[in-house]
Amino acid sequence: MSQLPISFEDIAAAHGRISAVAQRTPVLTSRMANVLTGAQVFFKCENFQRSGSFKFRGAYNALLQFNAEQRQRGVVTFSSGNHAQGIALSASLLNMPAVVVMPSDAPAVKISATRAYGAEVILYDRYKEDRAAIGRQLSEERGLTFIPPFDHPHIMAGQGTLAKELIEEVGSLDVLLVPLGGGGLLSGCVTAAKAMQPNCRVYGVEPQAGNDGQQSLRSGEIVHISTPDTIADGAQSQYLGVQPFAVIKDKVDDILAVEDAQLIEAMKFYANRMKLVVEPTGCLSAAALFGGQLNLQGKKVGVVISGGNVDLARFASLISM
Ligand SMILES: *Cc1c(COP(=O)(O)O)cnc(C)c1O
Repeated sequence: MSQLPISFEDIAAAHGRISAVAQRTPVLTSRMANVLTGAQVFFKCENFQRSGSFKFRGAYNALLQFNAEQRQRGVVTFSSGNHAQGIALSASLLNMPAVVVMPSDAPAVKISATRAYGAEVILYDRYKEDRAAIGRQLSEERGLTFIPPFDHPHIMAGQGTLAKELIEEVGSLDVLLVPLGGGGLLSGCVTAAKAMQPNCRVYGVEPQAGNDGQQSLRSGEIVHISTPDTIADGAQSQYLGVQPFAVIKDKVDDILAVEDAQLIEAMKFYANRMKLVVEPTGCLSAAALFGGQLNLQGKKVGVVISGGNVDLARFASLISM
């Protein structure tokens, strides 16, 4: 069997690298969540991470490993938002130029936050243009180092640090629920969780409209789909990354899919019961927690809240649906 792109040692090294600067985010509990599920639930709150999502972990871990020349020339990436903000903030902390290629219909709060961190933003039409090609061209023209949002071992290892922190804090978990887009977060978290606790069952959760991850796991090959129509804008990826998929295929127990209506219910739960502002994509794990697909009775369950970056007007309209 060929070797996987990341190991637990890579995650531990990433954790050492980023921990002076990344937040060790709080783990919250909710009596009501326990009552509703019959489980003991621990919420890992990456909505409180720097830049508003876990993406800071992978981005900062990646940029810290640039050599002197790469640092001087800078970084380029493409993203629907949160990776952009993670890269932009990391670059600014390291005094490095950053160029971010973003879809023109990305939430305004994400575009303006990326610019506010000092990055140059280049907009493109996500239904007509190929963001990867635009990113690659910029990297060739300006000598920038391209750091993709999920298909990179330094990104995957960085994202895995949050599962390591969670398990260090709460001890053994029976189940871990992780939002799934391109697979950087899930591949990192499953690597950490299974190394620390081989019996922990790890599930990816993605929007039903974009269940390419589920299809890929079932078929054993990466399935490509067209841009899914879902409110989970951080999980609109059309396919899993090659390196994340190698890990997911090897280690993940299953991938669950949830409807947008369940994301809205979870968003209301977070706001109403836990006083948390969570973006739609950040609600994927809770949608599965409350969705009834898993028997969680008596189990210790980790729920990853992956981010909190949502326009207030959009948040208000979603929670009043
Ligand atoms: C990027 C993102 C995800 C999905 O992460 P992947 O590494 O692409 O699978 C989930 N939630 C939020 C808030 C994100 O920004």
